[in-house]
Amino acid sequence: MLLLAGSSFTQVQQQYLQANERGTLLLSDIEKYYLTVNEDSNQLMVPLTKYIPELQTPWPYASTNNFTQKILYQQPVALLRLPAAKALHAVADSLATLGYGIILFDAYRPYAVTELMWQYVPDERYTANPAKGSGHNRGATVDISLYNLATKQPLAMPTPFDDFRPMAHHDYMELPATVIANRALLRNIMEYFGFVAFETEWWHYSFKNHTQRFPLMNFSFQVLHRAYQKITR
Ligand SMILES: [Zn+2]
Repeated sequence: MLLLAGSSFTQVQQQYLQANERGTLLLSDIEKYYLTVNEDSNQLMVPLTKYIPELQTPWPYASTNNFTQKILYQQPVALLRLPAAKALHAVADSLATLGYGIILFDAYRPYAVTELMWQYVPDERYTANPAKGSGHNRGATVDISLYNLATKQPLAMPTPFDDFRPMAHHDYMELPATVIANRALLRNIMEYFGFVAFETEWWHYSFKNHTQRFPLMNFSFQVLHRAYQKITR
């Protein structure tokens, strides 16, 4: 039996995926996406603003204010798989009791953008190798930080978003106590609700078992958002 990346999906899901020229399995036919959702409602991509009204979305990839200095996103929509969105909703509820809200830098990212980032910065320390894809392409990963709900100001964190110095690592401790506490608070709450931290980026969290549960996708934000509206109307 030929084992390809993503072969741990069910046989049914597997048949909807297509290998690209790199041999990476992708879901890129929207009709097949509908079939996966029919078979497993957890595959549904949902807009996060439905679940988290207080979300701040600065969208660095929709401007030139990102590590590629290129505009990578057109009309982005914050989308995640249903169980990941529910878990992030629980995170937001829990944070709200402490007076904090979520800043979302990124959630779902079309596979084509992962390829584009790799073209600009072909370095696995900074960007996902398209041969493997990213949890963002699976609709199961978020890049997030915290803000104060009363003042709307961001909480102090170790570095800005997409800063790839060692200061961004979870084990970096030469920081003010408040910064360490803010980073730990985010991590503790995210882990409690089923997200897994990434040791070299304090902002990046993936929903548990995402590589087994959700295929890589290459759809625009608008195509997936319209699919959500069609499925739920
Ligand atoms: Zn990320």
